[in-house]
Amino acid sequence: MLYEPIGHDPAHWPDSYWRASCPALPPCPPLARSSTVDVAIIGAGYAGLNAALELVESHGADVAVLEAAQPGWGASGRNGGFCCLGGTKLDATAITRRIGAAGAAEWDAFEHAGIARVRDNLARYRIDAQTTETGEIQLAANARAWARMQRAGGEVLDATQLREHGLNTAVYPGGAMTRAGFGLHPYAYVTGLARAALAAGVALHGDSRVTGLTPAQAGWTVQTAQGQVHARQVLIATNGYSDERLPGWLHRRILPALSHVMVTEPIAPADLQAQGWTRHLMAYDSRTLLHYFRLLPDNRMLFGARGGMSFRPAPVARFAREARQAFDMIFPAWQAVPAAYHWNGLVCLTTSRAPYIGPVPGAPGLFLALGWHGNGVAAASHGGRCAARALMGVADAAPRLTRRPPARFPLPRKLALRAGMALAGLIDGPLRPR
Ligand SMILES: Cc1cc2nc3c(=O)[nH]c(=O)nc-3n(C[C@H](O)[C@H](O)[C@H](O)COP(=O)(O)OP(=O)(O)OC[C@H]3O[C@@H](n4cnc5c(N)ncnc54)[C@H](O)[C@@H]3O)c2cc1C
Repeated sequence: MLYEPIGHDPAHWPDSYWRASCPALPPCPPLARSSTVDVAIIGAGYAGLNAALELVESHGADVAVLEAAQPGWGASGRNGGFCCLGGTKLDATAITRRIGAAGAAEWDAFEHAGIARVRDNLARYRIDAQTTETGEIQLAANARAWARMQRAGGEVLDATQLREHGLNTAVYPGGAMTRAGFGLHPYAYVTGLARAALAAGVALHGDSRVTGLTPAQAGWTVQTAQGQVHARQVLIATNGYSDERLPGWLHRRILPALSHVMVTEPIAPADLQAQGWTRHLMAYDSRTLLHYFRLLPDNRMLFGARGGMSFRPAPVARFAREARQAFDMIFPAWQAVPAAYHWNGLVCLTTSRAPYIGPVPGAPGLFLALGWHGNGVAAASHGGRCAARALMGVADAAPRLTRRPPARFPLPRKLALRAGMALAGLIDGPLRPR
């Protein structure tokens, strides 16, 4: 385990704004017997629950989902709610170089299909996830990034135009608009999926950490503290919270990384006007260690920052202070607006810089779907569905980019993370008022 146990402890579920503003799902009881199903899924986040729904609804499979805490405890219940393009750290040129133009087009279609998938889920399962306006703005963190954005073309807005569009900050010289995606309430979405899975007949077990995975006749035995499931196939959908012994093949092939979120008290309309930020559009900046933010339906500002190395209270508090300093610099008119909530969680990176959806090499019947690179609302939702189809034997169900098993990290990962962050900090440079 790369981080302190507290970060993985079901008893430590952050008091996030999301949990405070959404009815909780009634607790799902633990697995307390021995059962047999077609497919066992480990992890009840977007990936696991979408896979379960796909398996039951489209393939009539008998499915059990085993969750160490309760559905949505992981990143799926505590993220920023950006339902947006993403899922890889590779840009279009690098993807084309790796798998060709057709593969790059297929991946691009996958990212868009992810957003459509979430919209479809919300409508199909009647989930009120408080969606916000369509689109996303990437803000240039410095003059160099702004020049690059202008050269790339597309719909760019300079600082004056940003102000005219209700997107004024004291920092960013310009931005590029993408007309895709929307904001949502991540916990309402994941608990809505869990309700839909229960209604569809999925055996959904909370407080059921999987502690062992052993080959058995025609499948696998999946062990929890109080029970076991025998399944022909198993899908591991545990992303940043994975136990790297399940299976041992996973060891050092993923890099869980911290993301931190602050949500303020509601901001008064006059203060929104004073800052000139009045839109409920998703926004993020061009830094590697990016800041991401969006105004929530009740006019609280959600402000996220990637980085940090530990779940210990002192470094977490230090990181929260730094994030607040960035917030105050970007939105000086809101310096007096108190923060109401802070929390963090784990995302998942891989050496291939792309997700992996596919079989565990050398372990027939065992599949993985993980590595959404900090953007899993859409990608893990659709990726979970692709994994389910792959399990059912559909050829090429997952996009080509996700079919290459990730290699092991060659260096000690915390060292690599620390070095990567230091380098990113140098390249990004300090955030400065415009
Ligand atoms: C603070 C934060 C902000 C983010 N913001 C955004 C955003 O705005 N937009 C976006 O697209 N993405 C965002 N992400 C990333 C996104 O939330 C994830 O990519 C996505 O939720 C991953 O879904 P998942 O189902 O793969 O994994 P998770 O939701 O993390 O679920 C994995 C589950 O597996 C369970 N588990 C682990 N081990 C076991 C075991 N042995 N037995 C049983 N269960 C186990 C865990 O308890 C957990 O509930 C953010 C992430 C964080 C942490």
